[in-house]
Amino acid sequence: MNIYDVVIVGTGPVGLATALGLRQRGIENILLIDQTRAFRKVGQVVDLLPNGLKAIKYINPNAYEAVKNVAIPQNQPQKPSPVWLYKDLQGKNVHSTYLSFDDWFEKYGEGRVSITWYNLQTSLRKLLPKNIVKINNRCVNIQEESENNCVRIDCVSDASVNNNPYAYWEEDKDVEAPTIQFETKSFRAKLVVAADGINSTVRKAIYQDTSHSDFAQPEYSKFAAIFCRDIEIPSQLQTQLEEKYFSEASILTIGNHTVHNISTENPRLILFSRGSIGYILHAALPLESIQNASENALIEIASQELEKAGFPEELKQVVRLSSPANMQQRPYYIHHAVRHSPASELTWSLGRTVLVGDAAHGMPPFMAQGANQGFEDALFISTQIHKIAQNNNWDDIKAITESFQIYEKYRRPFMEYIQHATLTRFPLSSYKLSEEYTKKVYCRNLDSAVGIMV
Ligand SMILES: Cc1cc2nc3c(=O)[nH]c(=O)nc-3n(C[C@H](O)[C@H](O)[C@H](O)COP(=O)(O)OP(=O)(O)OC[C@H]3O[C@@H](n4cnc5c(N)ncnc54)[C@H](O)[C@@H]3O)c2cc1C
Repeated sequence: MNIYDVVIVGTGPVGLATALGLRQRGIENILLIDQTRAFRKVGQVVDLLPNGLKAIKYINPNAYEAVKNVAIPQNQPQKPSPVWLYKDLQGKNVHSTYLSFDDWFEKYGEGRVSITWYNLQTSLRKLLPKNIVKINNRCVNIQEESENNCVRIDCVSDASVNNNPYAYWEEDKDVEAPTIQFETKSFRAKLVVAADGINSTVRKAIYQDTSHSDFAQPEYSKFAAIFCRDIEIPSQLQTQLEEKYFSEASILTIGNHTVHNISTENPRLILFSRGSIGYILHAALPLESIQNASENALIEIASQELEKAGFPEELKQVVRLSSPANMQQRPYYIHHAVRHSPASELTWSLGRTVLVGDAAHGMPPFMAQGANQGFEDALFISTQIHKIAQNNNWDDIKAITESFQIYEKYRRPFMEYIQHATLTRFPLSSYKLSEEYTKKVYCRNLDSAVGIMV
């Protein structure tokens, strides 16, 4: 029977970063599995901020370079640093953020990059040997096998399962498409790292039959996005948008906010101009209103939200011009890091299995911290597993539990802070709170954290 030291479920950014962290620390008997049937160009643009990049550097310096190399170029020669503007409904600037790597590096000791989820995944995946990454393995259950001192990971390979519906670009030709029609398979590992995202199957498996069973599924965060790209805009409206809103920027957030009051409940329109105009509307919406809504209904809901919040005519017109074929919606879910009522401790691990990334604490992307926090998890957990390996504690369940608890002790209170900031957006409400947040998050010193834990 082959027993891996570690099986990582999920080859998203956090699973891959964990694998790189383990290999960097000499743990090579590992396997990564993913349900995907092909690595495809899926997903949104993700901003990696100083804390996430610092974590990646610690995980594996080559990963840091690889990620930087595939980031979307922000600076054009001879041009000032691009900027993300925040404007009120009258088009007045209330806040602005420079987007270039160098600006952030100067301020926080580490830079900032924007990168597509797919390029992030690919750049990390290509640093791992091909044979340790197995696609078309959907984990359906995990089971502790105390007689073998390991966990069994049951998987299904099923060619009839559709690929990710968000995939709309070409496939990666480097990876062979699976031909299997239907097969069940089990892998065994001393430890399982669950990096299978917000709808984590492993989380469900470890929470079922416990007092946390109602925390197995993610909860709707009350917020959702309605978005559209490639909108055809008449030239007069285009000029109006450029003069009143974009100025020199290509991305901006417009909302009913003032310098001192950026409210979460009010809808916000992120408008971008990348060759053509597109928008993302973030609003507090009942889940039932958007689930199964037709494309035209989504346009109607977005228009009504802007109307209710008093958005000016030209922005309502942009939404009305949306092409139904390009309309999408996305409800945002959350796994709360802390359970307040009833006050009982949640746990991110059970026995030999531990949760990381969105599987542990997925949340809406309003402060752009999902992947960044996941990279912090990857660093902390690979450091802890390294300690288990160094002390040859693979069969010492008490030592394993203690290591996972140390990881959680460091990560959970910080995640509570990040989720609070995400849901209330308090750092944008005053200069003082913004300073406090940037100091705590972007200037985060991971040296001491890793030092303490090693
Ligand atoms: C619109 C949007 C914008 C965002 N912007 C930012 C941002 O600017 N900055 C930021 O830091 N974060 C951002 N995020 C969040 C970020 O994308 C996530 O936090 C991050 O991708 C989480 O990584 P992960 O590896 O934990 O999970 P995922 O990226 O979800 O990866 C999970 C992997 O597990 C696989 N999987 C799932 N179930 C199974 C199973 N049963 N068996 C096997 N494999 C399985 C999936 O196929 C997938 O490959 C954004 C998210 C969204 C939706």
